[in-house]
Amino acid sequence: MTSLNVALKADLEQRKAQSLYRYRKITQGPQGPFIQVDNKKLLGFCSNDYLGLANHPTVRTAFIQGANQYGVGSGAAHLVTGHTQAHHDLEEALAKFVNRPRALLFSTGYMANIGVINALLGRQDLVIEDRLNHASLIDGGRFSGAEFKRYLHGDDSALKKILESRIYQRKLVVTDGVFSMDGDIAPLAALSTVVEQHDAWLMVDDAHGLGVLGDQGRGTLEYLKLNEAQVPILIGTLGKALGTFGAFVAGEEALIETLIQQARTYIYTTAPPSAVATATLASLQLTQSESWRRERLIFLIQHFRKGATQLGLKLMDSMTPIQPLLVGSSEKALQISQSLLKQGIFITPIRPPTVPQGTARLRITLTANHTEEQVNQLLDSLARII
Ligand SMILES: *Cc1c(COP(=O)(O)O)cnc(C)c1O
Repeated sequence: MTSLNVALKADLEQRKAQSLYRYRKITQGPQGPFIQVDNKKLLGFCSNDYLGLANHPTVRTAFIQGANQYGVGSGAAHLVTGHTQAHHDLEEALAKFVNRPRALLFSTGYMANIGVINALLGRQDLVIEDRLNHASLIDGGRFSGAEFKRYLHGDDSALKKILESRIYQRKLVVTDGVFSMDGDIAPLAALSTVVEQHDAWLMVDDAHGLGVLGDQGRGTLEYLKLNEAQVPILIGTLGKALGTFGAFVAGEEALIETLIQQARTYIYTTAPPSAVATATLASLQLTQSESWRRERLIFLIQHFRKGATQLGLKLMDSMTPIQPLLVGSSEKALQISQSLLKQGIFITPIRPPTVPQGTARLRITLTANHTEEQVNQLLDSLARII
């Protein structure tokens, strides 16, 4: 038999030849428009810190205060001794924010998605997902043992066909609110109508909408005016616009209690540090009180799109801070990213399997902390390269 080392090296070489090899850049400081990467100061356009809260002084102070009060480690899972007053207060604040009876914290969004789908479905059930859903939702569906189907991106009639042709005990339809690699918004009103007509349930992962969309920042559901009856299962993540770490599920009492009893990624893992919860409480308050951050984003998004259109760049149909530039081949995406680096701009290329074959891209993201001049600098660099 080939040794492990030889077998793995051959696979890695093949990846390199296909421009699919992934490298980590080492950063030396906090998130912000400027980011210290491999000891160079670069202008970054690929962070999910949309509201610019990841390094906000108030959030940092709350984090330190939480560590001083609770220590660092939580000691055990939530169901043992790890569930602190800070976690509990944050759950109540998040529930209130998204206007639902309860919320339940998970350590990460990946774990929330795996845990929820697995707690709700079994072998006799059906899960249907948008083709472009985040990997954690796809994995959650696959691990659940339920029959797993995908529908064409954003296509409610394709979803309808699948629902019509199948009889199952429980049927769960799952979609991103804002699609993570494309930046477009799911047609939730149309999807929820189909879901309702076929006695299914709708679950929305609003990792990229929460904090960003809607006047109050309550996310895609606020923006599209959908209520809890239409979307009974809502997932939010805390590591993006809220600038900290972790995730939550929001919904009715019975949903949350079911997850506490049955979600394995909730039960069998150490609770996150309480300081993350105290920091998130602070960033949630800023998210609500400082609506200028959302207004600033809207301005920068429009400014970028106008400039990019004038340059003849091929933008995707997105009004969110995710403004991908479709490139096509992985090789080209890698090249453009490297050329931008030489001009002091940091945007990691996104390649398959994160996105479908032939759709490698530069996933440009804007944050409330960027300035108009910095966006102009990005446009100037793009003009020189593309
Ligand atoms: C980032 C992301 C997740 C994962 O959340 P983490 O807290 O980073 O694990 C889940 N869903 C979507 C749509 C995401 O973009």
